Amino acid sequence: MSNYLIEVKKLYKNFGSNEVLKGLDIQIKKGEVVVMIGPSGSGKSTFLRTMNLLEKPTRGQVYFEGTNLADKSVDVFKHREKMGMVFQQFNLFPHMTVKDNLMLAPIKTEKLSKIQASKVADQLLNRVGLSEKSEAYPQALSGGQQQRVAIARALAMNPDVMLFDEPTSALDPEMVGEVLAVMQELAQEGMTMVVVTHEMGFAKNVADRVLFMADGNIVEEGTPEELFDHPKEKRTQEFLAKVL
Ligand code: ADP
Ligand code: MG
Repeated sequence: MSNYLIEVKKLYKNFGSNEVLKGLDIQIKKGEVVVMIGPSGSGKSTFLRTMNLLEKPTRGQVYFEGTNLADKSVDVFKHREKMGMVFQQFNLFPHMTVKDNLMLAPIKTEKLSKIQASKVADQLLNRVGLSEKSEAYPQALSGGQQQRVAIARALAMNPDVMLFDEPTSALDPEMVGEVLAVMQELAQEGMTMVVVTHEMGFAKNVADRVLFMADGNIVEEGTPEELFDHPKEKRTQEFLAKVL
């Protein structure tokens, strides 16, 4: 049994003739916070979506808790429940209250009874600082509040890893901080996280490891200090010169 929570081996993803992921090897330990940075179009979103099998890998393996999700005989839905995902767009159900958004998946998948789901929803809304918005509809919330609800909704399934795809990119600047604060707290509580972001401050402060991706490859990886202060590869240096 490997001591990694997630182990991606030689992962390839093509869209037609476009090879977007070119044989990625990535290992993630339980409790690790991995931040992925890289230029637009380099395959970061495709990586996250292929890792949780929202996209079918062209080749390669994705071991999650010891099970290869790319294996056709595996019940992907069952395992994906343990991977919370938060997107740039909050994707809350607009016709449901905040609390019902949080209760839906746990009840539907029969993970929790209605009473339990209600209790968990209350706890999570408290945790993201939105207890008073429980009965509000998403459209009545700010972008930052909606994204905090989206994080709480993913947590309601009690995931073993949280995947974030540019969770603050669609937010007005003044709302970025409140979402990053919730994410930082989650990291400090020991959640395993894979975060695609352009927030270099967050990467420096919160990441255990930073991966720089370009053209479907991991060009370089290291601790925040190694990657930001002493990048080895020219591609990394050029990218950082633009974003820092
Ligand atoms: P990033 O998140 O790093 O900006 P993406 O993973 O979104 O990059 O995209 C990487 C490449 O994959 C791009 O060339 C994009 O056009 C292509 N791509 C992503 N999703 C699809 C799709 N569903 N169908 C076809 N091409 C796609
Ligand atoms: Mg993307």
